[in-house]
Formats: sequence, C-alpha cells, structure tokens
Amino acid sequence: MKDRILLMAKDEASAQATRRVLEEAGFRVTVVFAEETLAQAAQEEPPDLVVLDVPFPGDEGLRACQVLKGDPRCARIPLVALVGTFAPEEAEAEAILMRKADACLCKPLEQELLVGQVRELLGEAAGPHREEAPRTILVVDDDAQAVEAVRRAAEREGHRAVQAASPEQGLNLALSLGPDLILVGAMLGGAGPLNLVAQLRRAAPEVPIVLMAPPGLEGPVAEALEEAADGLVAKPLSPGDLRALLRQQLLLRRLRQEGQERTRQAREVKDRLLERHLLLGQEHKRLQQAYRRLQEETAGRESFFEMVIHDLRNPLGVIVGALEVLRQEWLQAAPPDLQEVLRSAEQSALQMMALVDNVLGIERLERGRIPLDRGEVDLLDLIRSTTPLVRARLAAKGLTLVEDLPETLPQVWADWGILARVLLNLLDNAIKFTPSGGTVILSAAYEGEKVQVTVSDTGVGIAPADWDRIFEKFERVRRPGMPQELGSGLGLAFCKLAVEAHGGRIWVRSEEGVGSQFSFTLPVSGEGSAFPPRA
Ligand code: ADP
Repeated sequence: MKDRILLMAKDEASAQATRRVLEEAGFRVTVVFAEETLAQAAQEEPPDLVVLDVPFPGDEGLRACQVLKGDPRCARIPLVALVGTFAPEEAEAEAILMRKADACLCKPLEQELLVGQVRELLGEAAGPHREEAPRTILVVDDDAQAVEAVRRAAEREGHRAVQAASPEQGLNLALSLGPDLILVGAMLGGAGPLNLVAQLRRAAPEVPIVLMAPPGLEGPVAEALEEAADGLVAKPLSPGDLRALLRQQLLLRRLRQEGQERTRQAREVKDRLLERHLLLGQEHKRLQQAYRRLQEETAGRESFFEMVIHDLRNPLGVIVGALEVLRQEWLQAAPPDLQEVLRSAEQSALQMMALVDNVLGIERLERGRIPLDRGEVDLLDLIRSTTPLVRARLAAKGLTLVEDLPETLPQVWADWGILARVLLNLLDNAIKFTPSGGTVILSAAYEGEKVQVTVSDTGVGIAPADWDRIFEKFERVRRPGMPQELGSGLGLAFCKLAVEAHGGRIWVRSEEGVGSQFSFTLPVSGEGSAFPPRA
C-alpha cells in the first residue's frame, strides 16, 4: 500500500509539478488548495505526510502549519514546507515556519531532494527493515484508519498485521495466531481497555501489548493505561513513528523470547545436571554395594587362604620332623643317591615351612590380631639356637659362616619365635644369593640403648634403587645370570613388620657383585622400649 501525501498548493499549475514528482516516486497524492480543505482532509483520512507548497509572502503557509500541528490528531504527521525566497521583512515568518515544519526545502525545487526528504520523514530512508524474520502484529481495533496505518508500517518492516475488530476476536486471534505484538485501540468497546489488556496478557503472556489512545488523552486514565500495557501511544501515528514503534516493540518481544529461551536452556541444563547427579548417586550406591561384596568376598577368601596355610603347617611339621629323623638316623647307611634325595626333600620341606611361617606371620602382624608373645629374650641364645638350622644348607652350598658376637648382650622384650624367623629369613637369603665358596657373617653389638644384629654376605648384592622396594610384599629382584631361586618375595616383608612391631628398624646396604649387609636394631630401654613397663 502506497503512502498518502497531502499536498497543499496555491493553484493547479503549481501543484502539478510537485504532484508529478511525488507520484513518480510512488506516492499517492491528494491536492488541496485552501487551508480549510487541508484541515478537513487531514482529519478525515490522516495522510502519512503533508507538503505545503504555498506562496510567500503571506501567512497562508503559517496558518496551514498551525492548523495541522495544533490538532492532536494531525500533530504527528510530518510536514514539509516548500519555501521560496523570503523578503527581509518576512524573516520572522520564515523562522516560525521553519520551526513548525519538519523540513523546509527551498525553491526552485530539486526533485531528488524532495523525494529523499519525504522518504526520510516517512522512515523509509533505510528501506524495509528486514533483519528479523517476518512477525505477526495483531491490531485489536475497529478504527479502520489506524489499522490501515499499522498494516502499512508493518508491511514496510517486512511483517504482517492482522486486524481483530472486536475484543472477542482479538482474544481468539491472540490464542490462535501466536502474535509477536498486539496493538489495542484504547477506545474499543467491551469491558474496557484495562480488562482487555489483562485478558490478552493471559492469552499471550510475554507478547508486548501497546495501547493506541485517542489524541490528547492525559491524566490518571492515561497513566493507568500506560501502567497496564507495555506502551501507550496517541493516535494518529505518523508512518515513521509507527515503524519506530514496531521496531522497538518487536525488539522487546525478541529480547523476551531470548530471555525465555535462556531460562529454558538454563532449566534444561539444571535438569540434566540433576539427572546426572541422580545417576551418579545410583552409581555410587551400586559401587558401594559392589565394594562391600568384594570386601566380603576378599575377607572370605583371605580367611579360607589363611585356614589352608594354617592347616598346611601341621602336616608339614610332621614331614620336616620325619625327614630330620631320617637324616640323623639313616642317612649314613643309605646309598648316595638316596642320601641326595633325602637332603633335597628336607630342603624343600624346610623352604615350604619358611614360606608358610612367613605368610602366617605377615597375616598376624598386619592385622595385629594376635598379640606378640613377648618374653625376655637373650639374643645370643636366639642366635645360637638358629644357626644350626642353616648349617646343612651352608655346607651344601660350600659357604662359610663367620659369627662375630660379643660376650654378652642385654636382653630384649620380644617374641622369640618371631625374632628367630627374622634371623632365619636373613640367613636364608644370604645363603640363597651368595655363590658357592662365599662367606656369610653374622654379627651383633650393643650400642646406644639398642642391640644391632647384622647378616652380611659376599653375594650378588642389590642395586640402591631396590634397597627399599625389597621390603615390600612380593617384591623380588631378577638378576640376569643368577638362577632365580625359589622365593615368594615375602621374607623381607615379614622381617620389616616383625622388627617394627618390636619398636626396631631394619635396612640394607649393598654393592652389586660385592655383597649385602642386612641390619636390624631392637631397643633395650627408653621410649618404645622392647622391655615391659616397669611396675
Ligand atoms: P624371597 O623369598 O624372594 O627371597 P625376600 O623378601 O626374602 O623374598 O627377598 C626379596 C628380594 O630381595 C629377593 O628376591 C632378592 O632379590 C633380594 N634379596 C634379599 N636378600 C638378598 C641378599 N642377601 N642378597 C641379594 N639379594 C637379596
């Protein structure tokens, strides 16, 4: 729909030129020649723009301006005055005219300038506003002119306007159309504009609602209307103002939609997080149950394992005893190959016994279930009764045992059986890792409230990087060129637990290819004493 321009000219001849320029530019032009007809035409069908082409000097142009700008219904219609050359005495009239008009153009007229100026005032300078997707504007009004004006402004903006001529139809369309903006004629009949706005709000929340009030509406009524809606504008609206209004309100709508979208996304993220949280909670519970089951199973397996190891010990003791009797009573009389078989059987049985004792000892010390069976222990006695147990192995491997022991040693408060096992493990290792012809030295000393026992050998040695590691359970060091002797990696772990349970310390110093020196200390008095507290 074309914009309508009301042109006031002094006569047909002068109207012709301006009219032609405007019509060629695509406008509908209505020409009037008198001030009275101008006012009448403007009120009957408010134009989108008025061009005054009236002669000067004379106050006809000024009066025409006053007629238009003084009428609230026409006040917003853009006004372009085409002025000729003013005589000096008419300077004041010119100034007033220029203030009243929205634009003044001097004659002789430049066509492009007139068309450009008219377009700018009509808000078309930037062309249709097409940044947004087409929107739907619902105009709830029975004022045909207002609706038409909105329709045209909407079209220019690339949107569409739909009219609802009654409040009921407005409500229906607000529900069915899903408009992006609602313009409501404040004079529309029915239960009153406030009520209608409230109903429309319920039907289409988040959609901006703008009231179009009759000209000159002021005071509490206007305030109430403005309060209820997102905007209140006075009729009639110039095309430029209408387009600005549409842009502004559709921007508001878009911002609200974006806000809604962000809220929806935030809610979705929150829901997803909550769901994840719940899932994690379930997973946590499941893992806890699995962990408990695993613990139970492990405990069951451990106690079964412990029971088996424990039950192995008695028959093994019988075998070791029987083999010892055989060795002592019958070995000499047996043929040499049987002697070898018997010796190897006894060695293997003893190794198995050591393994069983280490496993049971670690189990016992780690869980701290069975307290140490402590008593006063003379370490020299303990050493003297342990070394005979390894003599056969020393001899079998051609190793020499050197004992470097003092005359006396203070007694320690210890579990004899456990300490004997520590010493046996260290001697066993020294024998195991020392090649034939080597030496094992067993020494003991009393120094600084501690007794220190050391087992040294001239064996393969241990790299410094392994000095700590070998005291961990199941840790063994493989050495190329050295046949891997039967071992579980439990002997030193037992020794460490056992010595520390007595308040002592165990360590190794060694040089590869030269030999190793395993030492442990036991306190004889003071803090952490191996002795029982004195009564
Ligand atoms: P294993 O039953 O394997 O001997 P241990 O805990 O007694 O287990 O020893 C762990 C590892 O420490 C051994 O496998 C060996 O590599 C190293 N080791 C222990 N004693 C000696 C030693 N006297 N000489 C060289 N290496 C040793």
